[in-house]
Amino acid sequence: MVAALRASFAAQLSATVDLPSPPVSDRLDAMKTSGPWTRAAAAAGLLKNGEAHPSVFAQMSARALAHGALNLGQGFPDDPPPAAVADAAVEAIRQGHNQYPPGLGEAGLRGAIAEHQARWYGLGWDPASEVLVTTGATEALAATILALVEPGDEVITLEPFYDQYAAIIALAGGVHRTVPVTSRPAADTHTGSGTGSDTGTGSGTDTGAASGDLVLEASTDALRDAFSERTRLVLVNTPHNPTGLMLGKDALQAIVDEAVRHDALIATDEVYEHLTFGAAHRPIATLPGAQDRTISISSAGKTFSVTGWKIGWITARAELITAITGTKQWLTYSSGAPFQPAVAVGLGMPSAAFADLATDLRERRDLLTDGLREIGFRVSVPAAGYFTVADAGPLGEPDADTLAERLPIEAGVVAIPLSAFYRDGDAGEASAYLRMAFCKSRSTIEQALEKLDAWAAPRR
Ligand code: PMP
Ligand code: GLN
Repeated sequence: MVAALRASFAAQLSATVDLPSPPVSDRLDAMKTSGPWTRAAAAAGLLKNGEAHPSVFAQMSARALAHGALNLGQGFPDDPPPAAVADAAVEAIRQGHNQYPPGLGEAGLRGAIAEHQARWYGLGWDPASEVLVTTGATEALAATILALVEPGDEVITLEPFYDQYAAIIALAGGVHRTVPVTSRPAADTHTGSGTGSDTGTGSGTDTGAASGDLVLEASTDALRDAFSERTRLVLVNTPHNPTGLMLGKDALQAIVDEAVRHDALIATDEVYEHLTFGAAHRPIATLPGAQDRTISISSAGKTFSVTGWKIGWITARAELITAITGTKQWLTYSSGAPFQPAVAVGLGMPSAAFADLATDLRERRDLLTDGLREIGFRVSVPAAGYFTVADAGPLGEPDADTLAERLPIEAGVVAIPLSAFYRDGDAGEASAYLRMAFCKSRSTIEQALEKLDAWAAPRR
């Protein structure tokens, strides 16, 4: 028996060796247009005429460097992390936290994540089985979708959406369903518009929107309607990138109710949870019926200004953590040894320190948003996050795609066209909208405003 197997194996081997192998260049050529990666690239709108492009954030940061332009594109802060967090990372390296951390993450950090969820939201998680440390929220999202979505399963997100969602849903073979974030002019000054009973909480709510500003919102009815018997996962992102929209309680409860009705899972991307400028963040897992079916994802990057550290985490029921670890461990196994204890220090900071971070960012939001309004853009005043959406239509620029290409050269400023966050780049009513980051230093924002003002002068 064994001898027969050996003989057959040897025959297969020699057959393989004897087969004429295609020239390597043919294989490389085929790779340009086939393979699972092309699904991801196409879904993120990065495969054009058979050519693959880097992500819009990479493209725009490269453009900023090439033209010496101010970078209001990619969402990374200019400022350093809180000193205690930075010092803890340096100390951890010196103390020898430099080898593989456990696959689930350092026990100290898992404990800090569980305590943070309990302190801020009253959510109880067992740090031993219900917390998973990941390589940023990016890996948490990828591992979650790859672990749970079967080919043909539907996954719901808002549109515009963070580009990674479409890419990973496509990689998993899922079907992406979207619910539009729509825009309308704010009716009145400081009215708190966007709080209509059938809407999510719009950008503009309680945040100082002026008459004529943009209000961005999502309809609760549309959220309900997106569910079907094929829905496997609803991927919630509140506070939302790129708009800063925070979904209100009614919208969140509608999502939970529909998820229960269709036995769907909920994943929630909460990386901007602490960067809110009015109402506090409300995690969907806190709503009745939600915690057991929700995978909550967050990250240290935005809160502590350490986007390059790539420390993220998931809290979910043990069965879900086991399933997600089943993909996560083959992606990175583990990462960021010295950063893990440092993030634990950050998560343990007093509440006032978190509030200071948000207040400081809110001032920069106002600096950018007020400045853009004065220059002649129509702006939305985001309720949270890193970004302002600015409509260039009033300045005679209806196409944000071409404008974003010209701005670094004409104005010395980089911004991202909102179309990058839509399927097939089709932004519809948002085609004249740009996303601009205010997580930059005051001086960067002031200089960018001066340059944009000079650029806009002949257009007003
Ligand atoms: N989700 C959203 C909504 C984001 O804006 C980002 C980028 N900052 C991420 C996930 C990725 O987070 P991380 O850098 O922790 O991987
Ligand atoms: N999240 C960041 C943004 O929206 C970018 C992350 C990335 O470059 N992939 O700007």
